[in-house]
Amino acid sequence: MKCFYSDADAVGICKSCGRGLSLSFASEFPQGLACRNRCEADVQRLIRLSGAAADGPGGTASNTAVSGVFSILAGGAFIYFAGGFSGGVSLTNFMGGAFFLFGLYSVIRALVIAKRNRSQSPKV
Ligand SMILES: [Zn+2]
Repeated sequence: MKCFYSDADAVGICKSCGRGLSLSFASEFPQGLACRNRCEADVQRLIRLSGAAADGPGGTASNTAVSGVFSILAGGAFIYFAGGFSGGVSLTNFMGGAFFLFGLYSVIRALVIAKRNRSQSPKV
């Protein structure tokens, strides 16, 4: 493939417009190339958007919350059905407790992520 702007061989493709770019006509970004003096702003915007999309609109937060609640339920069920509170520190109580604490940690983490997503969401 040739560079769109010169006769040199292309080293990559502009993330915004898809033109082939040689080194002297490419601006490099961490996640892609842009036509120099043409598509830089566009590519920066695309990179920002794709970063936000990877997290999803609160997607990570709700997934974490669901797995946290599940762990709390599983831990509680372990202790309630298999361990029993009179049994002292048995293996089932220990495992139930571990599940329970992990679930609690996940729920707290989900709340932190959700709060961070809200404060960082771009104003469109
Ligand atoms: Zn371009």
